[in-house]
Amino acid sequence: MKKAIFPGSFDPLTLGHYDIIKRGVTLFDEVIVAIGINADKKYMFSLEQRKKFIEDAFKDEPKVSVVSYKGLTVDFCKKIDVHFILRGLRNPADFEFEKAIAHTNRDLAPIETVFLLTAANTSYISSSIVRDVIRNNGNYTLLVPKSVRIKNSKK
Ligand code: ADP
Repeated sequence: MKKAIFPGSFDPLTLGHYDIIKRGVTLFDEVIVAIGINADKKYMFSLEQRKKFIEDAFKDEPKVSVVSYKGLTVDFCKKIDVHFILRGLRNPADFEFEKAIAHTNRDLAPIETVFLLTAANTSYISSSIVRDVIRNNGNYTLLVPKSVRIKNSKK
C-alpha cells in the first residue's frame, strides 16, 4: 500500500492545498495530511481548528487522514512507515526552496518527495495571503474550502 504524507502548517487550509490533496489521492492509496507543530511559530488558527478544517473538507474521502507531528518530517515518516512526501509547487521560489529541503531529506532518509504542480486557478493562493485577507475583513471564502470558518479565530 502506497502512503504519502502531505506536511505543512495549514494555517488555514486553502483551495491550493485542497487541490494537491485531491490529486494526491489519485496517486497514493492513502494521503496523510501532517500538521507540523513548531513551538516558535505564531499561528492564526489553533491546531484543533486547523485539524478540523481539513477533516471536514475531506469527510467523504476515506483515503485522507489528518495527524500532527513535532520534529523532522523524515523522522515522522520513519515512525509511521511512510516512504513518500507530497509537496505542491506554485512558482520558481517554491521550487528552489523545496529542492533544498528534498535534497536534505534524501540525505537523512530513503524517502522520495513527489511534487505536484499547482492547478493554474489556485497557483496564487497562499495561507499567508488568506490570513491577511481575514485580518482585514476581506472575502476569504473565495480562497478556501467551505469547511474553513473563522468564527473562533484570533485575528
Ligand atoms: P509551510 O508551512 O511549509 O509554508 P503550507 O501549509 O503553506 O506549508 O504548505 C504545505 C504544502 O502545500 C507545500 O508543499 C506548499 O508548496 C503547498 N501549497 C501551498 N499553497 C499551494 C497552492 N496554492 N498550490 C499548490 N500547492 C500549495
